[in-house]
Amino acid sequence: MTEKITAKMAIGLEDDYGAHNYHPLPVVLQKGLAAKVWDVDGKEYFDFLSAYSAVNQGHCHPKIVSALIDQAQTLTLTSRAFYNDALGPYEKYITSYFGYDKVLPMNTGAEADETALKLCRRWAYDKKGIPSDQAKIIVCADNFHGRTITIISMSTDPESKANFGPYTPGFIVIPYNDLEALQKELKDPNVAGFLVEPIQGEAGVMVPDEGYLKKAYDLCKSKNVLFIADEVQTGIGRTGKLLACDHEEVHPDILILGKALSGGVYPVSAVLCNNEIMLTIKPGQHGSTFGGNPIAARVAVAALKVVKEEKLAEKAEKLGVIFRQEMKNIKSDMIELVRGKGLLNAVVIRPKNGKTAMDVCLKMAENGVLAKPTHDHIIRFAPPLVITEEELHQAIELIRKSILSFE
Ligand code: PLP
Repeated sequence: MTEKITAKMAIGLEDDYGAHNYHPLPVVLQKGLAAKVWDVDGKEYFDFLSAYSAVNQGHCHPKIVSALIDQAQTLTLTSRAFYNDALGPYEKYITSYFGYDKVLPMNTGAEADETALKLCRRWAYDKKGIPSDQAKIIVCADNFHGRTITIISMSTDPESKANFGPYTPGFIVIPYNDLEALQKELKDPNVAGFLVEPIQGEAGVMVPDEGYLKKAYDLCKSKNVLFIADEVQTGIGRTGKLLACDHEEVHPDILILGKALSGGVYPVSAVLCNNEIMLTIKPGQHGSTFGGNPIAARVAVAALKVVKEEKLAEKAEKLGVIFRQEMKNIKSDMIELVRGKGLLNAVVIRPKNGKTAMDVCLKMAENGVLAKPTHDHIIRFAPPLVITEEELHQAIELIRKSILSFE
């Protein structure tokens, strides 16, 4: 049992002893259930961030927590030096769930992205015949794929990137949602892959034009280039389909998943692809101490089952339409734009009388809705997909009240 601490103490401790690599809202959470969280003083909030879409299945989903507890009391970690009896069943389940030959289990989104980049390069040399060390991967401006040195080497965000060099070479950056730029760069025979987020989440929920993903996929295929989808944030029901690529019936050559793969109870990520790509990596050439551990395997199966059993993608689709419409109905000139898909949405805030998106978020927190600005003027709204329609309407009222308080 942890000692009871006040909000002030908790914030002070993080400030004094933790690295200052985040800037949280001054809310100290203690408990979560489904779409709601409670702070140390018992105040209730709707969680409209869902741990950056990791908690799609809702906080502390009983079936996922039960798989975690059961496995934690049986066997937690063996390393991959030995087989374990949970990994194989998980691998069979997830590959048939998403329609791939093979999965490579990792822990965080960034690790899964790194794994996909390595697979792509290895495939480039072993299968496509690109000369050694010459493979290039096309990425999009304003991407977010994580925080490792190689991943920030692909980033165009000075905050993520500046003064962490030297950077990893081998990437070509093109504007997002720009098929002409893609077509031009694909002329280079040393291009091995195109890595893209189907919707750019961290960039502020940037939704590309309809047909972009399908056309980009077709362009890649015409040049024998791997289409790699980072669905760490958009996947697992969030945008109203199981995968955001499903909106355009695109089946990526390499699929990257994380976050909601565990429903937020454990770090679990995965890379999926077919044998021609996956089997280019041989024993000893890639891995992770915790990747594919029995707890992760059991948790991920439970989390994926919940998505299907509770029809969370369908729910996201339906509730997303309501949410966007209700946001557009709010009569405030602070609302510049509403965009999104399913329950991954953003409201672009026009500052008013010096009040910004951060002020709106602070007011919403006061009124019982948690969300966080991204890029100063954009608020992302992404509640757990288990939120009920009634709860969604309650939350919308609180958001409306918060925004109108600045009129
Ligand atoms: N890829 C995308 C699209 C993401 O949104 C994120 C995190 O927000 C990541 C990768 C990195 O995941 P992690 O923080 O688990 O490393």
